[in-house]
Amino acid sequence: MNSKMSVQPFYSETGQLTGVWIPAEKWLKHQDDLENILLKQEKKSALPAEPLAEWKNFLMYWDFNYPVEKKVECKSCGSETSDWTEDNPKKFHLRNASLGGLVAFMCLGCQSRVTKKHFKDHILYECSDLTCEIK
Ligand SMILES: [Zn+2]
Repeated sequence: MNSKMSVQPFYSETGQLTGVWIPAEKWLKHQDDLENILLKQEKKSALPAEPLAEWKNFLMYWDFNYPVEKKVECKSCGSETSDWTEDNPKKFHLRNASLGGLVAFMCLGCQSRVTKKHFKDHILYECSDLTCEIK
């Protein structure tokens, strides 16, 4: 590897900047500083960590009469996803998942609270004060 190589941007197929490559030599030299900066910025804008253990538990005890589905939609701003765990960048932030069937998200588009209530045979979506039902 050419150690004189400077920091290299990476672009996706659609031309969006997806990351930056830093030569190991530079990284090691400035690792502490860089990590401080990166972590500090993360902290500033950070939402509470997603309770993924709750979500996994919820999936483990899934006993509804329909297959697991990870669809989430926000009726306030129209944002939707067929699998909230796969979005990049994320559209919905998991707030909680209870074994009772209530899974709550925050819509990252408009900050609305989006909940999915899982009943035996159907799912009830609620978005702040709007309610819609999807069989
Ligand atoms: Zn929204």
